[in-house]
Amino acid sequence: MGKEAEEASREMRKIVFGKYEMGRVLGKGTFAKVYYGRELGSGESVAIKVINKEQIRRESSMMEQIQREIAVMRLVRHPNVVQLREVMATKSRIFFVMEYVRGGELFARVVRGRLPENQARRYFHQLISAVDFCHSRGVSHRDLKPENLLLDEHGNLKVSDFGLSALPEQLRHDGLLHTQCGTPAYVAPEILRRRGYDGAKADLWSCGIILFVLLAGYLPFQDESLMQLYRKVFKADYQIPSWFSGEARRLVSRLLVVNPEKRISIPAIMQLPWFKKGSFRPLRIQIPPPLPQAEEEEAKPSTPRFYNAFELISSLSSGFDLSNLFESRRKSGTVFTSRSAAAAVVEQLERVGRSLGFGVARTKSYRVKMEGKKEGRKGRLAVEAEVFEAAEGMAVVEFSKFSGDTLEYTKFCEEDVRPGLKDIVWTWQGDDYEAISCSGGERCNSSPW
Ligand code: ATP
Repeated sequence: MGKEAEEASREMRKIVFGKYEMGRVLGKGTFAKVYYGRELGSGESVAIKVINKEQIRRESSMMEQIQREIAVMRLVRHPNVVQLREVMATKSRIFFVMEYVRGGELFARVVRGRLPENQARRYFHQLISAVDFCHSRGVSHRDLKPENLLLDEHGNLKVSDFGLSALPEQLRHDGLLHTQCGTPAYVAPEILRRRGYDGAKADLWSCGIILFVLLAGYLPFQDESLMQLYRKVFKADYQIPSWFSGEARRLVSRLLVVNPEKRISIPAIMQLPWFKKGSFRPLRIQIPPPLPQAEEEEAKPSTPRFYNAFELISSLSSGFDLSNLFESRRKSGTVFTSRSAAAAVVEQLERVGRSLGFGVARTKSYRVKMEGKKEGRKGRLAVEAEVFEAAEGMAVVEFSKFSGDTLEYTKFCEEDVRPGLKDIVWTWQGDDYEAISCSGGERCNSSPW
């Protein structure tokens, strides 16, 4: 291939963050599209969910929902849960990079017809294992259905789409959840009743519907009218087909119990002879440690630390603060983003510090300490600036006060540092979001997503 053709071919490939090549659309949700992707370095397949920030900003509850989805997916790392690898962002989009689950939705398998009991049991084992793990971490999924259960290349089930999931923080003073959500045919009666519900028990109702669907090939509660459908759900008015074995019949009827207090629990399910058949072994899951930011820094002292997308999104818009999702919170400070390379940013910081008459020292490769020479109200003002890499060609700089008076620090940031850095600053945190221009932003403007 000639040089021009090679360049043209590179242009045609949609590369995001210099790290992933975007491919075909795998699926579409209400607020997002999911694409096939490939990590350039490793060649590994990934699924990339792209969420349009503009759409989210129009619906305030969506912002919370996405924050929760990120928090939950980081919390529930389990072999039967789709794994979130990283979250990244541009000015206008949020990218969830997830493990790629290539076998499609369990739904597609069921529409082809009911499953033999052994196969249904295998999926049910994996579903219960994932749901049990989520519940042990305080997470209820609230939208379990075959469309949200993906299959990998070995036929293993992976729970996906935690967009409606709930965390313990959402429990009201009565210890119950109150948000109406779910999909009508799978939703538990207590959710419809609107008097508060236990998310874990409601998930088990949905597991009952899923088991029924796997074994029957159709839904237990169906009706053209939503009201009639709900009436059937309220009364658990359904018929078990004749081909269900006695044990499967008993399990379904103990799951589809209207009173959540009387519904079978996961430990009790695990004791049932039907469940014990096959090769179910409870998994020992290692709970992963928080993202190893500090270790990463020690291991690679010559490169800037990676600035996580949650913080980047926060730094681009004061109304989109995801910083509370961090396990390791940094000292509060003043933050700006720059389109210059991290090394150039560090040099500019040093120049500005010196021009202001501060003593300047590089404490680490990408950390600059500036100390005033005059005594202030509370001793000398000392400020530290750390440069992070947010994505290729994008740095985030965070200032924090080391010592001295806070008012003097604020004045230093506002009146001294800002003007000195204007050539390299793209945007300051909290400045008007709309004012951000997408300079050199081939990824922001020309991408089709
Ligand atoms: P909804 O509006 O139903 O809540 P959503 O916007 O949250 O949807 P998802 O359900 O997460 O989007 O994804 C949409 C579709 O993309 C899925 O139904 C599935 O077909 C596909 N998909 C999602 N995640 C993956 C993945 N990790 N691997 C392969 N395909 C995936």
